Amino acid sequence: MARSLYIHIPFCSYICYYCDFNKFFIENQPVDAYIDALEQELTWRFAGETAPLETIYIGGGTPSAVTTAQLGRILQAVHVKTPGVSPGAEFTVEMNPDDADDDKLHTLFNHGVNRLSIGVQTFDDKLIQKIGRGHTASDAKNAVHRAKAFNFSNISIDLMLGLPEQTMSSWHDTLQTAAALDVSHISAYALKIEEKTRFYNWWRAGKLPTVTEDEAADMYEAMERVLADAGFHQYEISNFAKDGQASRHNQVYWHNESYVAAGAGAHGYLQGARYENIQPVPHYISAIENGELPERQRHQLSRREQMEEEMFLGLRMNEGMPLVRFEQKYGETVADAFPGALEELTAKGWLTVENGWVALTEEGRLLGNEVFVRFLENENKF
Ligand code: SF4
Repeated sequence: MARSLYIHIPFCSYICYYCDFNKFFIENQPVDAYIDALEQELTWRFAGETAPLETIYIGGGTPSAVTTAQLGRILQAVHVKTPGVSPGAEFTVEMNPDDADDDKLHTLFNHGVNRLSIGVQTFDDKLIQKIGRGHTASDAKNAVHRAKAFNFSNISIDLMLGLPEQTMSSWHDTLQTAAALDVSHISAYALKIEEKTRFYNWWRAGKLPTVTEDEAADMYEAMERVLADAGFHQYEISNFAKDGQASRHNQVYWHNESYVAAGAGAHGYLQGARYENIQPVPHYISAIENGELPERQRHQLSRREQMEEEMFLGLRMNEGMPLVRFEQKYGETVADAFPGALEELTAKGWLTVENGWVALTEEGRLLGNEVFVRFLENENKF
């Protein structure tokens, strides 16, 4: 059974213009009934299990958008509706800067949360408004300072690059401000225009002033330089950490290991099967009230699909993946499973194969999906 747990809290105090996550404006939402259902799902998912959890990640949505009492209930459920939290476990909760008040920080700390992931996106106040977020740059800085005052030593912040009208100078300032806050971890994602977002509608109407691919690539390279100078190691395409502070939970995903997921729209991976929970909150709650696991779909991966995922998830890590791990898991070598792929991609300068490890090169990291597609036979999978 998995020793990692993801919990999805699909409520937000504002809806950002770029976001296509499963989330709902919190006003008038049945948050307490949702937590009742979540407790029941955790009870079912962990029935008969005894091994305590090693990594927990509560994300969303915005877990910090609920009241302090509701947050306490969710955290308590992690302790009592599962086999418990292992001493030394990594326990992360996502929080928005404007929610980082003393009561919530106190509740998080008292329930054993030892890692905060703060959604900052940019320290440029004009851009923050233009992407529809409800805080300021000053809120974001204060959130980090307050979290430190509550003895959170492992703090991650999320940033976004390639935002509409984002200039290199604004991005540079954001990176410098992030580095100066002396956090332990930074995740930085390039904007993707997703359907069912305001940005998508504006983009379709020709009203979204997007940055070019070249500009976004320059921002990515600037990020690698600035964060390296500030003492961060890049350990994954979009993730940077100080020594020993890489996210253990996310590495479970990239190592293609099992994890339980609970909550509306959450995605889990157990015994070679990927499952996705029902997204709408009322349907999620009613499925559980009717005594059913709230799954929308489940797909048992074939051995071939597992091998493909092993490759494109493992290659996201800067260190790459050990070839021997693949062979031990699947009983054949990468070279046999994907004939010609390693030679072809190394000849293009996108991969290196050295000392038993295969990894993306700098150029390969910039291309990402173009490299991964070489390991996919059939992209049209759940
Ligand atoms: S980015 Fe975060 S806060 Fe904004 S709508 Fe999406 S989940 Fe909510």
